[in-house]
Amino acid sequence: MNCENIKKIIPRYISHNASNDEINMVEEHLCICDKCRTLLADSMDSPQPTVFNEPDNKDLKKDEISGLLEYLLLGISLLILLYFLFSSVLS
Ligand SMILES: [Zn+2]
Repeated sequence: MNCENIKKIIPRYISHNASNDEINMVEEHLCICDKCRTLLADSMDSPQPTVFNEPDNKDLKKDEISGLLEYLLLGISLLILLYFLFSSVLS
């Protein structure tokens, strides 16, 4: 694992969005790399705005998905209703 990969994971590591494997990789690397340890310390002191914006974006996506699901459920209910209407008309 090289420093470039660790740098990419560090924002997720700080915002607790890293997977267990990524956390292990970062922590193992920090034991042997002063540069990345300093980078992590600096990032924690002055978090980038993107780190803070990330949860908001996720919430927005969740809202969009639950909105879509509601439409989907409504559509399916309508289809079932129509199916029963037509089958009762036909029989
Ligand atoms: Zn490093």
